[in-house]
Amino acid sequence: MEDFKVTGTFIWYYCICKREVWLLAHGMEADQQDENMQMGNAIHETSYKRDSKEVEFAGSKFDVISKENGKLIVGEIKKSSKYLESAKMQLLFYLMELEESGIYAEGELLFPEEKKKETVILTEDTRKQLKQVIEDIKRIAVMPLPMMANRIKYCKNCAYSEFCWS
Ligand code: SF4
Repeated sequence: MEDFKVTGTFIWYYCICKREVWLLAHGMEADQQDENMQMGNAIHETSYKRDSKEVEFAGSKFDVISKENGKLIVGEIKKSSKYLESAKMQLLFYLMELEESGIYAEGELLFPEEKKKETVILTEDTRKQLKQVIEDIKRIAVMPLPMMANRIKYCKNCAYSEFCWS
């Protein structure tokens, strides 16, 4: 685990299921044939194809970047707001990475199909919350065993569901 690095993907899963964080951190690949995994990949590819403004920075990919009134806005297009908390924390993580490189930006989560937009800003509180999440992900990653599976509403759409529940 020496090379372990917290990424936006870990932040995303942390907000859904901490056991999933451990499984990912330990290289346990989710079932690529799982229909949820295939659907997720398809949605990802479709939204990226639709938007040609994908930008890569420090290993993170942003969907849209624009400048409004001199303010840099980092946008992320999402299929639905079902995973709003994960999406918010992940975008905060990207904003913090940018900030650490001297780039100050605000975030916007865009849900075109729901005609919704959510502004995401790094504040003292959100920064503190994010730092706690990062520390906890590191703690989970070095645990010798994963936490017990705990059935939650996301299990049925999780690519690890067969692993956890069969
Ligand atoms: S199936 Fe449920 S418990 Fe298992 S990793 Fe997925 S969300 Fe977590």
